[in-house]
Formats: sequence, structure tokens, C-alpha cells
Amino acid sequence: MDAPSFDTHLHTVYCGHAAEDMLVPNLLRAAAARGLRAVAITEHLHVPQHRARVDRIQTDLRRVADQVPCDVYVGAEIDADGLAEDGSLVAHTDGLAYVIASTHHFPGGKDWWYDNPVLGPDQRAAVVERWFAWATKLVSNPVVDTLAHPGIFLSRNGLTPAFAGAVLDGFRGVFAAAAAHNTLIELNELAVKKLTPRHRDTYPDLMQAALDAGCRLVMASDAHSPRDVGAFGWTLEVAAALGLQAADFAEPAWRQPPAARRPA
Ligand SMILES: [Zn+2]
Ligand SMILES: [Zn+2]
Repeated sequence: MDAPSFDTHLHTVYCGHAAEDMLVPNLLRAAAARGLRAVAITEHLHVPQHRARVDRIQTDLRRVADQVPCDVYVGAEIDADGLAEDGSLVAHTDGLAYVIASTHHFPGGKDWWYDNPVLGPDQRAAVVERWFAWATKLVSNPVVDTLAHPGIFLSRNGLTPAFAGAVLDGFRGVFAAAAAHNTLIELNELAVKKLTPRHRDTYPDLMQAALDAGCRLVMASDAHSPRDVGAFGWTLEVAAALGLQAADFAEPAWRQPPAARRPA
């Protein structure tokens, strides 16, 4: 299939772990070079104070508003509150055009997904169960538009062996709730770098489980550098494995008009 004409998940220098040239003007130049007609800038909000990042992006956009190459929506990738574990987010969503919800912490909110805590088999099984219950609440939260990169968290730390069997059954519960609440499921280009080989190989089965549950998928680069804006490779392979075309993927139902528009 052809790459999508829009990119729904982009970061900037303001997250602190993106390329130092991932400035709003450079992001827009990269979008123009790819011929994209729309992008969403969705900075990480890990704590409430990170909402200031959205304000900085809005300010940057106003400075270049008369020369943007495409429609630019301002949203955010907001962490689920791991302490509350109730599906709520750590930051408010007022005024955002698009809300991607992520679980970057273990349930309970202490360790990050990359912290590699030492867990016994029983503890791992308990984490997996808690994550499924938590994610089900998260996708049922009406302020959430999209579940970010499903499966990354459960592929780490030996939590699951692959997207198969009981693991897929657990995801089916999450996806059924997502479908009931019109929450999109992300097919995320950056995920390929974080999955184990077996999770990578079985990722089409995970996406098929989402489709079977009635979910719509949304493509996302999750770019943290200009060269990755609108760059889709592995995700196109997954789409091809599932027999999907570009038209089979959703465009988000934007909650706000573009913060900046392409020239008419
Ligand atoms: Zn990031
Ligand atoms: Zn993320």
C-alpha cells in the first residue's frame, strides 16, 4: 500500500529525548518534503506540568503560521496515571485536537517500561493482568482518541513471550472496549525498535485481533527527528501482511480545527 498522506504522532525537542533539530519549523519542512497534507504534533506529557510544552509548540506555530505546508493539528501523547490505574490521564486535555494515551510505566506508576525491574513469574503474570485491566479502562476514557503503540510495554521485561494464545485473548478484551468507545488503535513505526523478535513477528496477529474486535487502526510514525516524519516502513509491511490499503486506516476525528492551515 502507499504510505498515508498524514502523520498523526510527532514529537519535538521539547520532550527532552528527541533529535536536537526536531524544531517545529524543521518538522514542517520534513512534512513538506514527504508531501503530507496533515500532521499532528503530539508531544509527551508525563506529568501535569508538561502541558507547558503544548503552549511552546503553539507559540512556535504562530511564528510560522503563514508558511506552513500542511494542516497542523496540536494534540498530545499523554501518560495514563499509573498510580490511579483508573484509566485517567496525568494531564488535562482542554483545547487539544487529538489525544493519544500511553502506558510508559508499570501499573502502580513506579518503574518505567525500560527500567528492567527484577520480577518473578508470579509477579510478571500479575503485572500482565493489571495492565490489561488498566488498558481497558484507558481506552474507555472518553477523552482518549487513540491507544499508543499497543504491546510495547508487555513485550519487555519477559512479561509475555509473544502476541499469541492467552496474551492475544487479554488484548481482545482491551480491543473490545476500544471498539465500543471508538478509540483508535495505533500502528506505530517506532514500535519495531522496541519489540523483541518474537513480538515483532507476531505483531500482525495483534493488529488482526484489533480489527476482529471492530477497532480501526491509525498509522503513526512517532517521529523524534525530522528524517522520520512521515517515514513508514515496517508499518507498511504489517499492513501488507494484513492485506490492508491506505483507505482501511482511520484519520482521527480531530477535536479542534488545525492550529495552522496549508495554503488554500
Ligand atoms: Zn518519545
Ligand atoms: Zn509512547
